[in-house]
Amino acid sequence: MQIGHLQKDFLLSVEGLTVSFDGFKAVNNLSFYVDEDEIRVIIGPNGAGKTTVLDLICGKTKASSGSIQFRGKELTKLKENQIVQAGIGRKFQTPSIYDDLTVFENLEISYPRGRSVFGALTFNRDKAVRERVEEVAEMVFLADRLAMTADLLSHGQKQWLEIGMLLIQDPDLLMLDEPVAGMSVSERVKTAELLNRIIKGRSVLVIEHDMKFVEDIAHKVTVLHQGQVLAEGSMNAVKTNPKVIEVYLGH
Ligand code: ADP
Ligand code: MG
Repeated sequence: MQIGHLQKDFLLSVEGLTVSFDGFKAVNNLSFYVDEDEIRVIIGPNGAGKTTVLDLICGKTKASSGSIQFRGKELTKLKENQIVQAGIGRKFQTPSIYDDLTVFENLEISYPRGRSVFGALTFNRDKAVRERVEEVAEMVFLADRLAMTADLLSHGQKQWLEIGMLLIQDPDLLMLDEPVAGMSVSERVKTAELLNRIIKGRSVLVIEHDMKFVEDIAHKVTVLHQGQVLAEGSMNAVKTNPKVIEVYLGH
């Protein structure tokens, strides 16, 4: 079994992962491996099982069989909140931000609790939180929007805010499901820039259809088809692969 992979420590190892919904295998004996500091993009036709893979990794859906190892921890045995604790942040297709709170408050409530480094010194904690909120707001292009309520943000800014709400928790693996859907061209370019900037010390797993965007960010691309890996490799290798053109890119 996977002897070739034993020499290396991957951040995330998915092996033989399967989930059946009433006998239909949405993910079927899937294996793939994500490196530290890697941006991996999963592409593939609608219904290929892409979102389900993220659901399985974050514990929203339970696997029928197979394994998901993250820093040596078996995730298939953990609950969703334990998987967040283990260092995985996941963004869904629709942003889950609080519309009536300001950008600052949205980021503030996402700041991880229970980090006791500041002890009972509320003042120090408040200062640390504020600095971190400002730092993250800067990263997600919202430094000048901190006092604005989230409902007044553009669609793209809402997506960035949600990425910020995950970043403030400093996850080792950030998972994003179609982050640039509905964004303008300039917002897509900025999002690519954002992802390329934030991967120091973490990995990102992204599902996307926008090939220009994929090209801008992917270190490696995994093409999913019928719950299985159809092809995997550099964007260039994948884009010229006849099987990939036939089932996905040709459409
Ligand atoms: P993708 O994100 O690649 O478009 P999905 O992972 O959303 O695909 O879905 C893969 C397949 O699994 C689809 O046929 C979908 O209808 C099915 N599916 C996904 N989630 C469930 C579920 N909770 N129950 C039943 N079928 C599901
Ligand atoms: Mg999907």
